[in-house]
Amino acid sequence: MSYLDNVKIVLVETSHTGNMGSAARAMKTMGLTNLCLVNPVIKPDSQSISLAAGASDIIKQAQIFSSLEEAVADCSLVIGTSARPRSLQWPNLTPKECGDKIIAEAACHAQVALVFGRERVGLTNDELQKCHFHVGIPANPDYSSLNLAMSVQVLSYEIRMSMLSTQNSSLKLDHQDVIEYPKDEDIERFYQHLEQTLLQTGFINPNHPGQIMGRLRRLFTRARIEQQELNILRGILTSVDKRQ
Ligand code: SAH
Repeated sequence: MSYLDNVKIVLVETSHTGNMGSAARAMKTMGLTNLCLVNPVIKPDSQSISLAAGASDIIKQAQIFSSLEEAVADCSLVIGTSARPRSLQWPNLTPKECGDKIIAEAACHAQVALVFGRERVGLTNDELQKCHFHVGIPANPDYSSLNLAMSVQVLSYEIRMSMLSTQNSSLKLDHQDVIEYPKDEDIERFYQHLEQTLLQTGFINPNHPGQIMGRLRRLFTRARIEQQELNILRGILTSVDKRQ
């Protein structure tokens, strides 16, 4: 069992089956095996298999999901990739920091996801806001968009480098004082509870809900709620529910 087994590479709405194959090859050369496809425009085909070469097993085992939410439900760290800085302010990582963060958390048995976007338009703002961090490969500012599979290669390489330096380091990752983060599905349950409670108290008007839940999601994703904090927030909501 390697830390790398806790890492998922998630490709959202990929159009070219060849890119799925090349991404699988990029992953396997770096020791990654978990490929997740969210709503692929076409399911993996013979072109994926041929471009995967010796990594066709990764394509054959790839899991297919109908939403990003389902693909990352069991993950407690989600990192989104982007070819260009977006307008929203968000915690950004360099590729090396991204590799280090992924390995530090995967080493604590957390499932982590690195999410890649569509060939033409990347990830939507909503998808990027579901991620705790963003990572960009600092490419030529005049032409910063790498081919999808090549960006998988560069970021998988950084994950591998981080894993190797952890293995070789006498300073092993310290498992004590490790912060536990909730899984995405538990956070989604919290948002449902929060919305229900805010509807009950009348803070959210069901006819004009506005942007409140979207803004609150942004706030909590940015803050990266810890498991204990989530328990407190759920307790607060239950105490409010009891008084209704
Ligand atoms: N026009 C799109 C480019 C999409 S490229 C955009 O501006 O977002 C397809 C995917 O490859 C991206 O969603 C991202 O996952 C990855 N990618 C390409 N270039 C990248 C870069 N410089 N840094 C990080 N990811 C990159």
